[in-house]
Amino acid sequence: MKPMQCGSCHQEFRNTEVRERKFNYYGYDMRCPKCGSWLAPDNRSVMLRGVGFLLWVVGLVIVYFMSESESQNSSYVIAAGFFSLVGMALFAASYKASQLTPKKT
Ligand SMILES: [Zn+2]
Repeated sequence: MKPMQCGSCHQEFRNTEVRERKFNYYGYDMRCPKCGSWLAPDNRSVMLRGVGFLLWVVGLVIVYFMSESESQNSSYVIAAGFFSLVGMALFAASYKASQLTPKKT
């Protein structure tokens, strides 16, 4: 895995070096092993992650119910499957795009 960069001291560190984490609704905040400041992902990537996850789940649910029903319309199933994949890609991209910003405590 690619090292992360601290938004406070700008030093790079790896996920395995992080000793303290605080879990919350969007993932977790972590403490920089170099300078000890608490870091959170930036708002934009947190939003991207939320939107991606929602699309992913909603797409999957639609595909599931449509393929269960008798009067299935395959083009809707394909469209929903496509949205689900886009959501999954956004979700994954949000981890790559995220920047760690120092958190005020
Ligand atoms: Zn730091």
